[in-house]
Amino acid sequence: MNQGFSAPEAPDEIIRIEHMTYEYKREGDQAAYVAVNDVSLSIERGSFVAIIGRNGSGKSTLAKCINALLLPASGKVYVNGWDTTDEARLWQIRQTAGMVFQNPDNQLVSSIVEDDVAFGPENLGIDPPEIRRRVDRSLSAVNMFEERTKAPHLLSGGQKQRIAIAGVVAMKPECIIFDEPTAMLDPNGRAEVMKIIERLNREGITILLITHFMDEAVRADRVVIMDDGRIAMDGTPEMIFAHSDELRRLDMTVPFTVDLADRLRRNDIPVPQSTIHIQEMVDFLCQYKSEI
Ligand code: ADP
Ligand code: MG
Repeated sequence: MNQGFSAPEAPDEIIRIEHMTYEYKREGDQAAYVAVNDVSLSIERGSFVAIIGRNGSGKSTLAKCINALLLPASGKVYVNGWDTTDEARLWQIRQTAGMVFQNPDNQLVSSIVEDDVAFGPENLGIDPPEIRRRVDRSLSAVNMFEERTKAPHLLSGGQKQRIAIAGVVAMKPECIIFDEPTAMLDPNGRAEVMKIIERLNREGITILLITHFMDEAVRADRVVIMDDGRIAMDGTPEMIFAHSDELRRLDMTVPFTVDLADRLRRNDIPVPQSTIHIQEMVDFLCQYKSEI
């Protein structure tokens, strides 16, 4: 035995997907449609992972399989070590990995903001004083405490989405899967929701963010690209967005800063390859200007 050497520590995974395939049944004798095809993926606890890929590449299906809304045809999905096909663990799995969807209107159920946020904890059978605390804390976390007695339908899209997020936060999830949460929002609403997502991550919640905005993906610490039900690329934003040709093949655009950096390089301005965030670009250009 190899005593004296300890095995490298395995990363602390909150989600583990092993050779997972999901198929949608189709009418009559048509073959089932394979939406996720033999995907393996491990998500480290506390990380912020963006999932991108063209329409129909299987992102939402993958997300629903993590949340046990869908069960794999083959392979395994584990959340906190619990197999999603274990019915006895279903509520623990859903509470651990909460989900926020694209359309806030479909996620709000009550006519008063705070009742809506209380809905999840009530269903978990939590004591009323603890529910009160969680509702207040969750609303504060999304900057919506002042609006707690308002009617959701009077709020903007971005505010409604923040209420939906508060409803998930009130369940004390360890991970939140966001499926294109900003797709229906105006730029202000998007910016607010992104700020909340980043703050939740800093507070320790694992984030999976499905998005078609590259400027959102660049803020994650890992980017996974799906294509035709499979994982096409997986790496840090710096690695992923350095491959603009490969990205174009996958129908992905590049973040604003990466595009600008490419254009500047073509004009002999030596922007470092690793420049993907706006602040890095600003710092580089200020430095460059002071040198010429
Ligand atoms: P994405 O979120 O990346 O756009 P989806 O996971 O929604 O992709 O869909 C993956 C594929 O599965 C698509 O081709 C889509 O048409 C198909 N699909 C999605 N939902 C269903 C469904 N309920 N029944 C049949 N096919 C579906
Ligand atoms: Mg989708």
